[in-house]
Amino acid sequence: MDVSEYKHNTEKGIVLVIGGGVAGIIASLDLAGAGHPVHLVENESHLGGQVSKLDKLYPTDHCAFCPLWTDIKRCMEHPLITVHTLSQVKELKKENGNYSAVVLQAPRFIDEKKCIFCGRCEKECPSGAIHPGWEHLCPPSFVIDEILCTKCGDCTKLCPSGAINMELKGEEINLAVSGVIWATGFKEADISHLKEYGSGTHPDIMTSMEFEEWISEAGTNRGNITKKSDGSVPANIAFIQCAGARDLRMIPSCSAVCCMHALKQACWVKRRNRKIGCYIFYTDLRTVGRDYYRYSLRDFEGAEIKLVRGRPGLIHPLPDGNGIAVQFENTLTRKREIRRFDIVILNGNIQPSLIQLRPLQPGSATVPQTDKEGFVIEEPGETSDFACGFGLEPADVAESVIQASVAAMRITSKKSNPS
Ligand SMILES: Cc1cc2nc3c(=O)[nH]c(=O)nc-3n(C[C@H](O)[C@H](O)[C@H](O)COP(=O)(O)OP(=O)(O)OC[C@H]3O[C@@H](n4cnc5c(N)ncnc54)[C@H](O)[C@@H]3O)c2cc1C
Repeated sequence: MDVSEYKHNTEKGIVLVIGGGVAGIIASLDLAGAGHPVHLVENESHLGGQVSKLDKLYPTDHCAFCPLWTDIKRCMEHPLITVHTLSQVKELKKENGNYSAVVLQAPRFIDEKKCIFCGRCEKECPSGAIHPGWEHLCPPSFVIDEILCTKCGDCTKLCPSGAINMELKGEEINLAVSGVIWATGFKEADISHLKEYGSGTHPDIMTSMEFEEWISEAGTNRGNITKKSDGSVPANIAFIQCAGARDLRMIPSCSAVCCMHALKQACWVKRRNRKIGCYIFYTDLRTVGRDYYRYSLRDFEGAEIKLVRGRPGLIHPLPDGNGIAVQFENTLTRKREIRRFDIVILNGNIQPSLIQLRPLQPGSATVPQTDKEGFVIEEPGETSDFACGFGLEPADVAESVIQASVAAMRITSKKSNPS
């Protein structure tokens, strides 16, 4: 059966899934498995969300990429799932229990099927507008950044497979759907106004996502643990927990995943170079449940990770440029200290994106109702739009996937409203 016929023949309502991270991918696969045609809308040039930037995943320490890649491929190839990358929902209206949506899809300029990933366009582009979307994707393909591109046309001339077409235009796609799932994940919040953390003042003061990308085997530094400032091996690294979180000036609640990923990152640093000292400055170590608690007690093959209870009061680059001073009180020993570190990682400033989306789309859009802290107030049975994953509330991958399946199940268990 031809795909359009298959889609036409299904009696299940069409569902719009917004956000193509693990939560959106799993929700789409579950819905499609139950016979619902799905439109999966993703901002970025590829599916995978933040997990595509992670190295290993706690609690198993297995590679994040393999299971994610399999699910991305299943999603792209499923006859009931239409993936719209480089896309945004411009308008979403609820009418008689169903929704009408306008999706704005930016032009990719490079035909993914024709691109042979030779890299000539990236190398020769004078404005640096061409980059590999996500090189692990199958088939991998370059992406042209519309804002940076000067439309000089040089890349079109040197592409050996004729994959580049600068004449392509963006598209507006009108959709009629009977359900919506918000899976818009998280964004790192800027904490540079919390001056004591020194965010943005030194290349070796990084956020947890920056550091994860930096030490990832598939990342810019190919798994080497070195300083960004001069490429040398650091003597020690400080992980600062709750930087921007559990803080009434920014994110009042706990970001839920940071204690675990600080332990994971420290562990990976030690596995690659056990001479590097790792210090985790924590408020209280939140490793929920048996497996995560065990993870925190691991011996890491004898390589010690130092846990210091205390929130540093000042993080400041040293005037001679050689390291970063961290001033703290160890609240167990009541000792105040200032120590020099080579790298400082700020953990905690990650925020469910629904908090940020809501003010952007007032009125017509049916962004889920949230309370003042951003948590979604749901009215079970009265709504056909659900939120899941980190976009709803801070959640690790396992929790995001469970919530995605729950959201999909809530839609499939509603009376179908085929459009
Ligand atoms: C440093 C770090 C390390 C971590 N390590 C682990 C780990 O080892 N194990 C673990 O279990 N968890 C880990 N986590 C948590 C994990 O990243 C999240 O659980 C996971 O990313 C949640 O997936 P998601 O799909 O809900 O959101 P995301 O991964 O954030 O995906 C959301 C997607 O939605 C897209 N999007 C957003 N807004 C829109 C919009 N308006 N329109 C269209 N698309 C949109 C985004 O581009 C993105 O692709 C870590 C988190 C951090 C910060």
